[in-house]
Amino acid sequence: MAFGINRKELATWKEKVQKGELAFLTHYWIHPKFPENKTVTKAGCSDIGKLVRWGKQYGLKEEWIDRRPEYPHFDLIGIKQVEILFQEGLESHIEKFRLPSLNEQHSFYAIHLKIFEKKLLQIGKLGTYEFPEGTYIYIGSAKRNIRARIARHIKKVKPLRWHFDYLRPHGEITKFETFDNKLDECTRCKQLKEMYQAKEIVKGFGSSDCRCQSHLLYIPRW
Ligand SMILES: [Zn+2]
Repeated sequence: MAFGINRKELATWKEKVQKGELAFLTHYWIHPKFPENKTVTKAGCSDIGKLVRWGKQYGLKEEWIDRRPEYPHFDLIGIKQVEILFQEGLESHIEKFRLPSLNEQHSFYAIHLKIFEKKLLQIGKLGTYEFPEGTYIYIGSAKRNIRARIARHIKKVKPLRWHFDYLRPHGEITKFETFDNKLDECTRCKQLKEMYQAKEIVKGFGSSDCRCQSHLLYIPRW
């Protein structure tokens, strides 16, 4: 069931797909199997080879393609959908459909990044550290426009400014969450550390302005 799009948008998408162009269509969606995902983005292209190559860069597997005879496409949902829309420069889809539920009144956030194999990385002036495989949680704050900040963190290619920018390209974002002001950034970090029984393996990461050991948490199991 598709809604939130008009006939013309659908026709334009179909036309592009048939021409062998890569085309994106986001609409609301109700699916009993995925109650948490209220929208889907269809990334289509009738040139299967081109679609496969495009999907590969985002870790999408060929067998996930919905092989409709005229309109083969990937159905993108959840965090992967948001990540791809940002990276394809399609923020307008996110704006239109308010994806995902993100509270704009909040000013603290946590980003979960999964690293699949051990990496040795230079984190700006902080130094070089080993990052074993597992899930990392980065805690930060944005006094204004938390949506834009998270959008920036999701992008893989950008000027390197924050410690997290050096880590971001080496994993996949699996989740993000935002928090109200009841707890400050450092207290929230300690709370999450306890909640996830996480470790702090990179001293000073994201915590140059406070007394915390780190604003990056590490959970080995994943
Ligand atoms: Zn702190």
